[in-house]
Amino acid sequence: MPEPAQPHRPSASLQRHLGWLLLSVVGMFGSGIGLSLWFSLESSREDQQQFIQHEAEQTNANLIRRLDYYRMLLANLARDPELQDVMQFGSTDEKQQWALSRQRLLPEILGLALVDPQGEAEALRIGPACRQDLRRPGALTDGRLLMHRELTGAEHVDLIAPVRDVRGDMLGGVFLSMHLTQFQRVIDAAIQPGHAIALADESGQTIVSRGEINGPMRELRLPVADTGWTLIVQTPVQWLTRSGWRQVMAGLLTLGAVLLVLVVGMVRLRRTMRRDIVSTVDALTALARDEPVPTIVPRYVEFETVAADINMIALHLQEQRARLAHLSLTDPLTGLPNRRAFETRFPQAQGLAERQHPVALVMLDIDHFKGVNDRYGHGVGDQVLLALAQSLKALTRRADLAARLAGDEFAVLLSDLDAAGVDAWYQRLSDHFRSELNAFGLELNTGLSAGQTWLGSASGDTLNDALARADRALYQAKARGRGQLVQDAAPGADGTE
Ligand code: GH3
Ligand code: MG
Repeated sequence: MPEPAQPHRPSASLQRHLGWLLLSVVGMFGSGIGLSLWFSLESSREDQQQFIQHEAEQTNANLIRRLDYYRMLLANLARDPELQDVMQFGSTDEKQQWALSRQRLLPEILGLALVDPQGEAEALRIGPACRQDLRRPGALTDGRLLMHRELTGAEHVDLIAPVRDVRGDMLGGVFLSMHLTQFQRVIDAAIQPGHAIALADESGQTIVSRGEINGPMRELRLPVADTGWTLIVQTPVQWLTRSGWRQVMAGLLTLGAVLLVLVVGMVRLRRTMRRDIVSTVDALTALARDEPVPTIVPRYVEFETVAADINMIALHLQEQRARLAHLSLTDPLTGLPNRRAFETRFPQAQGLAERQHPVALVMLDIDHFKGVNDRYGHGVGDQVLLALAQSLKALTRRADLAARLAGDEFAVLLSDLDAAGVDAWYQRLSDHFRSELNAFGLELNTGLSAGQTWLGSASGDTLNDALARADRALYQAKARGRGQLVQDAAPGADGTE
């Protein structure tokens, strides 16, 4: 035995599809915003880097310019012929005198002094650390800067230049002390708001500084040429510039707007589709129940063709059903209502009788019909049946009903006629039948036997009972010699026994 077919379950879900669509839109926008954030951060980082690079290079250049100025000044002093004389032949006093006179010309410097070739200071006002540095071998010639912090408030840097005679022999050295405020001024002039700059010596110790950064920062270190010093510029990390934030906000707002439009669109789409489907279901349900089918009017143009097809199919089905209904209630040979149609209409006639209208049920049977068939053939028999049907159609009113029950047996319901009226009707029918037969060219000596009863005016009369009574009357008509109408009761009598 074949397995019963499993009901097909839909595998796709509209909701899931729409959900995925929303998710992918959010994903795309999310990556877009992420990318734009990353670009913004990168460009902000590069901008910051460039900015502090520029700041550091500017400060560095200013520092070198200042140092170079004093180095040049010192070199010029060392080449001064008067100094060579003083160094060779002058007394300590004269040397001090020379130093003081030059220092007076340079008010920015902290001190100026002379040392002999061994680095021994001949000038006054020299601290012990200074002396020690000056005694270091090569101190006069290597051009190194000497940092001294021993005296608070008098922290300074010493620059030394060798002094030689005309033959190039070493006479000693001249050194110049620069106050650290000189460097501080350079840094103060170059620093940008919110930044920090520090100048550190070879050991990493701070010489001068300005500003302090707490928290995450970017840092740039630049060596200050010919000093061994390092310039350190720091700036707080700026994560996102204002334009970056604006970009992100614009992205988020656009995402929100797109999501809103999508969700509203989907809800509307779903609602409208649902409405179209429901109206289709309503139409099909009405069709199944044989009720008037409403025409489907879709809201979406895309469903127009499908809806038109369904409307057309519904119309065809309705027409087909009406045709079938007509066929099932019609006798195919004569076109008269058949027994089933007679049964269907009977309650209506019974209702009329119950409302005190006289309703007669007449059963008709063609006399010696079998003989006609036997003598002339079935085709002629059919023509006789058609002749009777024709007469019945001609002599029944709209409110009456004539039906072919079976073979050569017919039944008629006649309303609002009395017994004489029924009799007269029977006479007219017989005459009409005969002339119809003549019209067919049939010279037949056949007639109609009829049995008549009245439908009961009290409720409870049934079709079977009424038919049985009419049949009995018909039997009597046959028995009395055929070609006549027999009534089973007087008019007004119910007929029910
Ligand atoms: P009676 O006078 O007593 O009515 O005798 P009858 O010969 O008419 O006998 P009955 O009514 O019993 O005969 C019915 C005949 O009708 C029998 C059958 O061959 C014939 N018949 C039934 N249906 C058709 C039909 O559709 N066409 C034709 N031609 N004959 C039919
Ligand atoms: Mg008969």
